Amino acid sequence: MKKIVFLLLVAFAFTLSAKAQHFDQYFEDKTVRINYLHIGNAHSESIRIDQYKVGDGWFGTRAFLKDPYNYGDITVEVYDSTSNKLIYSRSYSTLFCEYRTTERGETEVAEMEECVNIPMPKQTVRLIFVAYDRSRVATKLLDIFMNPTTTAMAPMTKDYPVMNLHKGGSPKKAIDILLIPDGYAKSDAKLLKHDMRRFASYIMNCSPYKEMAKKVNIRAIKGFSEQSGITQPQNNFYVKTLLNCTYNALDLDRYLMCLNVWNMYDVADDAPFDAIIIICNSEKYGGGGIYNFYCTVYNHGEYPDYVVVHEMGHLIGGLADEYYTSEVSVQDFYPAGTEPTEPNVTTLVDFDSKWKDLVKEGTPIPTPTSTKNSPDYDRVGAYEGGGYVSKGVYRPTQHCTMNTIVYDDFCPVCLRTLKSMIDYYSLEKSE
Ligand SMILES: [Zn+2]
Repeated sequence: MKKIVFLLLVAFAFTLSAKAQHFDQYFEDKTVRINYLHIGNAHSESIRIDQYKVGDGWFGTRAFLKDPYNYGDITVEVYDSTSNKLIYSRSYSTLFCEYRTTERGETEVAEMEECVNIPMPKQTVRLIFVAYDRSRVATKLLDIFMNPTTTAMAPMTKDYPVMNLHKGGSPKKAIDILLIPDGYAKSDAKLLKHDMRRFASYIMNCSPYKEMAKKVNIRAIKGFSEQSGITQPQNNFYVKTLLNCTYNALDLDRYLMCLNVWNMYDVADDAPFDAIIIICNSEKYGGGGIYNFYCTVYNHGEYPDYVVVHEMGHLIGGLADEYYTSEVSVQDFYPAGTEPTEPNVTTLVDFDSKWKDLVKEGTPIPTPTSTKNSPDYDRVGAYEGGGYVSKGVYRPTQHCTMNTIVYDDFCPVCLRTLKSMIDYYSLEKSE
């Protein structure tokens, strides 16, 4: 038995060193940031690169250079230009991808700032940006060659002090969560410090982060805004802040987003990060979370602990909202016959690829709801309603932090997804 374990360990170590070699073969220990504009509407879209930036160190995963999940609406693919081999890919979503599905996006053209980080290639690479619609039909948005020695790249600069809030491990062997304060004036210095610590403790007291504490780092940028508060266009309240976050994004009152994304990444790159959380100094309920992009949360009120871990579910896990509020049917939201990409909702088109393995034998699918005092109340199944859709989409349980306003109550499916994501960022990221 021991021998088998040893052999397995040797095989595992060999695989990892092979992966590390792959990184060293193609990449340097530096980060290239691609700043670009995403332009278009529901009917056409394109990408225009504005600027490349370069900084020391690559803090993303080295064990999984090709994104194993592909939950996002966009994938950036990096190919070795000589062999045409895919050497890096990253899947993510953006506000523009949501804009395209709105009423305004039907007719009006929008231009939105976006960014993506890739490791610095040693030689000329081919960069391809691909967008996916809800049927997972791919559209190529950009296909160019990038020569790292001749391409102009502005250096990333260090501008702000960094606070260490939770140290789990080396930045290369942990998920690096970065908090950025917005709307905190110099006179709010005490509050800023207090809030950054408070939000770090909300994260670390919630599963699965608390059980995986050694694989989680939390830092905060100590950056002040010219004015206090967050812009609320609907109340005619405008303030100059570090990141210029605003309510009413995509014309939704509580949707709190940052529209100056290039500047936001300039602030963020003062510390290693895998996930950016913007803490907004505002009493107005609001937030938002976009997969592998960033999330926002307001700092006061009744539920900021719940809002931050819920939005992190979108940001880190690519999780869907499990609630549904209207009589929207699946046909309106997910094209017929397709399985949603989000790991915690299913149309039962391909339930095997979701959480069928977590459903106990004998559980009916679809699963009928049961009352709180029933022994079946907590069971994993497929309950109709989820992902904003009341019919034809199913969620794993009757209660979950992605469903109702309850802190630290992720269902087994969401927990499993978040755990595997933390592992994705922390497993043998370095050396
Ligand atoms: Zn869930």
